[in-house]
Amino acid sequence: MAQLVASMPGSSTGSVVVTDHLNYWGGGRREVRSGDGAQPSEPVFEPATGRVLCQMVPCGAEEVDQAVQSAHTAYLKWSKMAGMERSRIMLEAARIIRERRDNIAKLEVINNGKTITEAQCDIDTAWQCIEYYAGLAPTLSGQHIQLPGGAFAYTRREPLGVCAGILAWNYPFMIAAWKCAPALACGNAMVFKPSPMTPVTGVILAEIFQEAGVPVGLVNVVQGGAETGSLLCQHPNVAKVSFTGSVPTGKKVMEMSAKTVKHVTLELGGKSPLLIFKDCELENAVRGALMANFLTQGQVCTNGTRVFVQREIMPQFLEEVVKRTKAIVVGDPLLADTRMGGLISRPQLDKVLGFVEQAKKEGARVLCGGVPFTPSDPKLKNGFFMSPCVLDNCRDDMTCVKEEIFGPVMSVLPFDTEEEVLQRANNTTFGLASGVFTRDISRAHRVAANLEAGTCYINTYSMSPVEVPFGGYKMSGFGRENGQATLEYYSQLKTVMVEMGDVDSLF
Ligand code: NAD
Repeated sequence: MAQLVASMPGSSTGSVVVTDHLNYWGGGRREVRSGDGAQPSEPVFEPATGRVLCQMVPCGAEEVDQAVQSAHTAYLKWSKMAGMERSRIMLEAARIIRERRDNIAKLEVINNGKTITEAQCDIDTAWQCIEYYAGLAPTLSGQHIQLPGGAFAYTRREPLGVCAGILAWNYPFMIAAWKCAPALACGNAMVFKPSPMTPVTGVILAEIFQEAGVPVGLVNVVQGGAETGSLLCQHPNVAKVSFTGSVPTGKKVMEMSAKTVKHVTLELGGKSPLLIFKDCELENAVRGALMANFLTQGQVCTNGTRVFVQREIMPQFLEEVVKRTKAIVVGDPLLADTRMGGLISRPQLDKVLGFVEQAKKEGARVLCGGVPFTPSDPKLKNGFFMSPCVLDNCRDDMTCVKEEIFGPVMSVLPFDTEEEVLQRANNTTFGLASGVFTRDISRAHRVAANLEAGTCYINTYSMSPVEVPFGGYKMSGFGRENGQATLEYYSQLKTVMVEMGDVDSLF
């Protein structure tokens, strides 16, 4: 894979075939047997062309066990190193990613379908996250507590052991970094499993950590789907599972992890509300709504797909949003001017188009998009493209307003009062993100306080800086990624009690 990244400049959509092994443990890529009693390999597609990019060869029990053993051996060394030493190695990993950013981003585009502009931001976020946690690694410390008679206690912040990451396909490299960085900073080892649809870039991250100087086998990648994921959740030597994916899978992960009482972080789906009040700066609200719906072809967990607009400004809002949505350039994601690439797979495309059809049946009006799109470039004719869609005439009880679509479909709903819109915005089992556009600062903070979500954006949407904690309320999950808070989720506190006098005994 390192060779592939090095030889990538000049590659274009439809030209890359990945033949390297994508499973990685013990400091090297591993060939895994498929079929004939083992799980069969699965084709991985390039969303822009519909062409097979590579084969994903899943790991079974034996391979998962080897990866976990490899992680554990490395953990015994890594966890004994000083925070400053871990920091230095992590900074070197961040530097290497920065150096190879454009080629990693190209591979991400080819495997995931998102635009190169977005993929470059993702890779930047990945190295920034590693740099951020490298800075925090030496700061891990405990407390000293004085007790009567000269006795005292102190606490040590200790790692958990081998952590497992189970990843979604929408931000393959970035989410892997979001999990590895805090885990490694705290002294843990990592085995992560990318989505079977995006197996290509995760292994590059593992290789880069190795190249930067982590103990051999500290970061490992096992490819596969539900079966491989379950093996990680059930492995007795895995101390924690950090999962990013849908609510139904998250529940299963929690259930399986409960059997061996593992720590669990769940980063799940959403159906986030975006509240646009009539006193907003309309130009910014329109930009915010587009960012909240159409990044990564609408396949973003935090997307503000329920756009509540105060009735008085609805006509102007719709006119502007529809004009700009129609202007989004859909096509070859490796071209700098493209703003929307292909969806992750043919089934995902069909599912999203199905949501649009269902919305129409339930009475929504399609103001633009919502149909398959064929770019003029002939090599893209089998790609998984659709035109971004704005739905009007929506009601709270419609399927498109209640369910996570995970595609470029914005549902717009009118409202009259703050009290009413808060009640409607919170009337969901999800609670990942939310947003409000208003010029009234009291209203902005009041609304932020009352929205039931892990993040509330005021007069913006969609950024996730690595310094800021990220995670859900309600069924969007628990635990956090990014920010200092995440150190708590990758470490445990040991209390040491010290008596300076004689033992006080009742016996
Ligand atoms: P998914 O739940 O289908 O799969 C997620 C991961 O779980 C994949 O790696 C998959 O192979 C694995 N998996 C599937 N069944 C499993 C099982 N039984 N045991 C263990 N692992 C199993 O989700 P997806 O389609 O890959 O991703 C889309 C979903 O992810 C959306 O709901 C989206 O909102 C959510 N998401 C959330 C965040 C966040 O940070 N909150 C970020 C990105 C995506």
